[in-house]
Amino acid sequence: MTSRSEETRDGFRFRGGRLPLDLTATLAGRISGAHRESLNAPADLDRWLVAAGLTDRAAGSTADDLLAARALREALYALATARAEGRALPDAGREALNAFAAQPAAAPWLDPAGDRRLHGGVRALLASVAREAIELLGGPDGQRVRQCQGPTCAILFLDTSRAGDRRWCSMSACGNRAKVAAFRQRER
Ligand SMILES: [Zn+2]
Repeated sequence: MTSRSEETRDGFRFRGGRLPLDLTATLAGRISGAHRESLNAPADLDRWLVAAGLTDRAAGSTADDLLAARALREALYALATARAEGRALPDAGREALNAFAAQPAAAPWLDPAGDRRLHGGVRALLASVAREAIELLGGPDGQRVRQCQGPTCAILFLDTSRAGDRRWCSMSACGNRAKVAAFRQRER
């Protein structure tokens, strides 16, 4: 089993520091408009839920669950980018998120390794992610949601740096690319 600290797990990106932000990263290419969908089939959602560490086995997602997960994801993206840019939260996204969070959530439990897991079906797992999102966006950390400054990167992350000045989703990816670009600029 891959460590939960790894930035990429089973092909999915986990650079956000919080699962609701990581869910938004399952649609890439948001800046360029050339979208790359990672949740193409119900089995992909099952894989994401396991990679996210929410559950240790395939939750048995249906086609409707997949549509629900994408709807939650897009609500989260709209809300988190509004937070990152200091804009008012969009009503449609807020209402969608609230509806997900109002569903019965999955029961948390500790696994033998001491990690948090959730016990419940796909909708209950999504409800738990939605509740976590409300804690995040509505709490003090809401001011710490950022969007990566990589020119083509839309990844959202929680800035846990002391100074609150983190710019990149990942130092080894976007941070390094920016460093290389700045070096080339100086060479010229
Ligand atoms: Zn980035």
